[in-house]
Amino acid sequence: MEKAAAPTENSTFKNIVSHAKEYGFVFPSSEIYDGLAAVYDYGQNGVELKNNLKNVWWKAMTQLHENVVGIDAAIFMHPTTWKASGHVDGFSDPMIDNKDSKKRYRADVLIEDCAANYEAKGEPEKAKTLVQQMARFLEAEDLKSVQELIISENIVCPVSGTANWTEVRQFNLMFSTQVGSVAEDATAIYLRPETAQGIFVNFLNVQKSGRMKIPFGIAQIGKAFRNEIVARQFTFRMREFEQMEMQFFIRPGDEKQWYEAWKQIRMKWHLAIGLPAEKLKFHDHEKLAHYANAAVDIEYQFPFGFKEIEGIHSRTDFDLSSHEKFSKKKQQYFDTELNKNYVPYVVETSVGADRVFLATLCNAYTEEVTGEGEDKKERVFLKFHPALAPVKVAILPITKKDGLPELARQIFEDLRYDMNVVYEERDSIGKRYTRQDLIGTPFCIAVDHDSLQDASVTIRHRDTTVQERVKIADLKNILLEAVSIKRIFEKL
Ligand code: ATP
Repeated sequence: MEKAAAPTENSTFKNIVSHAKEYGFVFPSSEIYDGLAAVYDYGQNGVELKNNLKNVWWKAMTQLHENVVGIDAAIFMHPTTWKASGHVDGFSDPMIDNKDSKKRYRADVLIEDCAANYEAKGEPEKAKTLVQQMARFLEAEDLKSVQELIISENIVCPVSGTANWTEVRQFNLMFSTQVGSVAEDATAIYLRPETAQGIFVNFLNVQKSGRMKIPFGIAQIGKAFRNEIVARQFTFRMREFEQMEMQFFIRPGDEKQWYEAWKQIRMKWHLAIGLPAEKLKFHDHEKLAHYANAAVDIEYQFPFGFKEIEGIHSRTDFDLSSHEKFSKKKQQYFDTELNKNYVPYVVETSVGADRVFLATLCNAYTEEVTGEGEDKKERVFLKFHPALAPVKVAILPITKKDGLPELARQIFEDLRYDMNVVYEERDSIGKRYTRQDLIGTPFCIAVDHDSLQDASVTIRHRDTTVQERVKIADLKNILLEAVSIKRIFEKL
């Protein structure tokens, strides 16, 4: 079994990865057996953050768009689905092996890394030409020329340092397994490599049962599986991951307008959840997938560079037409305004829950130094948007006696049905603040002796450490306002 590769990126990223493990966000899968490459588990804080992100996406897509509804399709699908979608024949990556190190690489990634080096050396033209050349060769399925490009660019294996390469071959990324109890009746099926096809095959079910009128969308969140060759950058590229996809069904001819509209809507969402504008950009695809006539990525600047977090694709009628052909069942819509039948066109938005999670974590991770000399203080905290933070509020009686725990417990009871709240009385208040900073809790409530007299408590704000005295009677409303998902939605 391959072991989980340790991330080799810059030191901030290393700190983020170890922070994620130490504070219950992400653990390597089956770690007691040394892990499994490119597979990770979400811990007690990670799952809360990820659920909050998924919830914000789900509600933004369905609740805030009158013409988008959700479904939850199965991971297993009829194997012909993947013939029709093009995945059986076309879902592969070009790979190349180094004969000395016996390591396998994605040929396009090696070339893109080389282009990034040109970019870093101030030679953007060279970088652009190289990427364009590669795109042309891949488009023409000319793998020999891709290999020649690697050799002529003097690209060497990072492990062996040699350019002793095999030829470039295509490698299918789908995992397959069997259904059926006895080997003879077993049928090979696939673990879905994308959630989109579960939406396409349900297009008419949803349209008819929901009396949907074009344009309308179907959204879904679910697991997808890809046998990725290059497993690196932590949860950025996993073999089991989660997608949040939406297929928007439109009239043929309207695709340009909807493609542009969804590009803007989706960029706004990333800004609204707190990713900064300067760390987000669009990146048009050089090489279009077999199903698309326009495609763009939204990229986030991770500590290891600008990388895709979401893809927006104009998929034409490729998928529905293909399912019509393979299933021999009409996948058409009767447009009452035009008085005609047609196979709808589709604009898709597809974002990785794990990649948005990682972007949010990287963006939140803050190493702060204040003061100088003897007053110098260092603090690490996670600056999550309050609506996304795993724990919203920590209730902290400053001592374990004098009736303070009782009052603190009352406040805890009053809040716990509305938000994720923790109660803690162990250790000094300073240590408890630090622990909450490390998991990104936006508000700590200190209950002190005065609280018994003045029915007030102190709210300590995570980002500024500023403390504010408020009436216990007002506390719930103040907190509900501050952690509400509305704070995100009003920016959409
Ligand atoms: P990449 O070029 O990085 O392999 P892709 O273009 O193949 O990604 P899509 O097929 O467009 O990705 O999938 C849509 C989204 O699903 C991506 O933007 C990404 O957020 C997520 N995703 C795809 N593959 C993975 C993976 N192996 N691990 C985690 N997330 C993934």
